[in-house]
Amino acid sequence: MTSVFERLGDVPLIDGASLIERYDHFLLDAFGVLLCAGGAIEGAAAFLAELERRGKPYLIVTNDSSRLPVSCVKHYAAKGLHIPEGLILTSGQLIEGYFRAHSLHNASPRCVVMGPEDSKVFVRASGGQVISADERGTLDVLLIGDDEGYPLLETLDAVVSMVFRTMDAGRTPHLVLPNPDVIYPKGEERYGVTAGGIALIVEGALEARLGERAPRFVRLGKPFTPLFDAAFLRWGESARNTAVMIGDQLQTDILGANRAGIDSVIVGSGLTPWDEATPTRGVRPTFRCEALGR
Ligand SMILES: [Mg+2]
Repeated sequence: MTSVFERLGDVPLIDGASLIERYDHFLLDAFGVLLCAGGAIEGAAAFLAELERRGKPYLIVTNDSSRLPVSCVKHYAAKGLHIPEGLILTSGQLIEGYFRAHSLHNASPRCVVMGPEDSKVFVRASGGQVISADERGTLDVLLIGDDEGYPLLETLDAVVSMVFRTMDAGRTPHLVLPNPDVIYPKGEERYGVTAGGIALIVEGALEARLGERAPRFVRLGKPFTPLFDAAFLRWGESARNTAVMIGDQLQTDILGANRAGIDSVIVGSGLTPWDEATPTRGVRPTFRCEALGR
């Protein structure tokens, strides 16, 4: 069992080569671990090539719900990382399971999707009917897939109005958030607000009028366990003993690994301030590694 460290500086250091030596199954976050806004992170391609050479299985587990796996392949390839579609698990792929679990898959629910076309494809493939945000209408499902693909303020006004109208008619809509990430690395020392941050605005707005009756988003991606469960469905439960999650965010990647009962490595190539004084806030990484290539 991993000890509780209070600061990043207390977490033991490890390098990429030792990681490959130590573990047999690798779960890798994409942004901040393999990729950044500018391209592939130094050493990422070599790390994956070494896993392949040694026959150690890996999967990319990403909270990105703005791209289908096939679109991820193209996006990663444009940055110099060639990863087969079958090795990419995205939070968008969890929408289908949510719809099934709530018997929405055969009910043709009316869904407003805040996100680009790929987010809508995930919803349609799960049995949802995608409708436009219309402040005078109602809805069965509100899903935030991404921060792009729609005018932010107009859409926020419309969806909040739609949820109120639906609640006033006596029904509680499903609020679904595949990607709980609040921020993302936009570039050198620049950050962007993404799906999870937009969900916080919607939740705050709903609570302002509805108080405790306000519905909240069901968060599907990391730090919740469905993405991890999907990985171990593929590899078998015993793989949890030899698996490691490598991520750049304590509150999503590493907390998710803690909940999944597997070892984890926090890297310094993404969002977590790479400072020994950074508080771990109760989250337990097994190791820290400055970057996969170090
Ligand atoms: Mg990340």
